[in-house]
Amino acid sequence: MSTHPLRVIIVGGGIGGLCLAQGLHAAGISVAVYERDIAPDTRLQGYRLNIEPVGSRALHDCLPPHLWEVLVATAGDPGPGMGVLTERLRLLMREDAPPAELDSFERTYAVSRITLRRLLLAGLDDVVHFGKEFTGYKQNPNGTVTAFFTDGTTATGDLLVGADGARSRVRRQLLPRAKHHQALGVGIGGKFPLGDEAAWLPQKMTSTKNMVLPKRDFLFTAVFRRQESSATIAERVGDPLRAVGLNPALIIQDIQDDDYIMWAYVAHPHTLPVDVTGRRGQQLRDLVASRLAGWHPDLRQLITRTPADSIEKFDFTAAARVKPWPTTNVTLLGDAIHPMPPVGGLGGNAALFDANALRRALITVTSGQELLPELACYERAMLKNGFAAVRAATLYLRLATLRSRTLRAAARTFFRLCGAVPSLRRAVFAD
Ligand SMILES: Cc1cc2nc3c(=O)[nH]c(=O)nc-3n(C[C@H](O)[C@H](O)[C@H](O)COP(=O)(O)OP(=O)(O)OC[C@H]3O[C@@H](n4cnc5c(N)ncnc54)[C@H](O)[C@@H]3O)c2cc1C
Repeated sequence: MSTHPLRVIIVGGGIGGLCLAQGLHAAGISVAVYERDIAPDTRLQGYRLNIEPVGSRALHDCLPPHLWEVLVATAGDPGPGMGVLTERLRLLMREDAPPAELDSFERTYAVSRITLRRLLLAGLDDVVHFGKEFTGYKQNPNGTVTAFFTDGTTATGDLLVGADGARSRVRRQLLPRAKHHQALGVGIGGKFPLGDEAAWLPQKMTSTKNMVLPKRDFLFTAVFRRQESSATIAERVGDPLRAVGLNPALIIQDIQDDDYIMWAYVAHPHTLPVDVTGRRGQQLRDLVASRLAGWHPDLRQLITRTPADSIEKFDFTAAARVKPWPTTNVTLLGDAIHPMPPVGGLGGNAALFDANALRRALITVTSGQELLPELACYERAMLKNGFAAVRAATLYLRLATLRSRTLRAAARTFFRLCGAVPSLRRAVFAD
């Protein structure tokens, strides 16, 4: 058993790294995060993030209660389950809404990425170090590990956690043979503001998430609509935050964001023009619009009226399966080990699952258990959960980019059948 308190170094202050840092900080475990961005608001763009119950549970367990309350208060209304529509806006199936009586930490949330980032950073001023680009690590003979940064500084601890995202340098050094492959999909996404001028959109588009399953390609839409006005939220969460010395104005400064529909158009890369990589905003919008012949006019307008500066392209990658490796004092979490296509919104939830599992393992270590066996246990659970999510996301992407018309017709028939037969729908989608 170690004779000094555990010191944890986290490389990467994204969703997973910061969630772990919050959980360790709250448990009184010494933790330091090293993030390459130069400041907290270097990258404050982004879409809504779908947080599934596994992610909600992790955030609930890792965040102090006053920050969890802010997350719940600022989340958007996730709407009543997901709809599956044709490109003519005909409903094939609506997934059942989750039961209303769930505890707050068992629910699904639509959260603003920006607000989540502010929340995850709250209270960690002395923990998170910005402008620290990690270059490599060295495992020392005395059982510690030292991280090196481009500015010439170093940090030494008992455990180094690589939470540095899909291009992880920690993974590259720890598991040089772990590979990613280009997943067969390209996503183009945009944000359509839901102001008064959006009244023409049908209610089924503005109330919940939808999968649109046309004869080729795929469209996902999701609404971000806050449940309360920013003034009401500020009033509700202000005092509890001030009571613990946090500045509510800083944490909830972005909640006046306008509501919007986020859409993501997904296509098989072999069907897109070769110059798609160089296209930006309006060119990407024109490209999507050119593929919507025969679609319902409201869906076409949703795309063509989206501000060009909100439109981005995403190349999808997926991790190849990684076998367990001999556990040492360097480990990984989130996209650093199991990146996946965002179809299905699973990657952030998997990173949050890892953060919570690792937090629990490290708390056990501080109460007397050996570090390496606890870490080995964490790594087994993390690999199992993370690669199950990679498989699911890859399968969803394959379905979204199916090129066979026969298989697409079969998929539509399957959803139509599930829509018509509640017992079949429940059997297929209950989990
Ligand atoms: C368009 C889109 C939509 C998505 N929607 C969803 C969704 O709805 N739900 C969901 O669960 N997931 C979603 N995802 C996936 C999700 O964003 C990722 O899975 C998640 O961010 C992974 O978290 P992470 O902490 O592992 O890595 P990241 O969030 O990528 O964080 C990694 C951090 O490490 C830092 N870093 C990198 N290299 C270094 C270095 N050398 N030194 C120091 N710091 C470094 C980075 O700056 C970054 O801050 C979506 C992804 C995309 C692209």
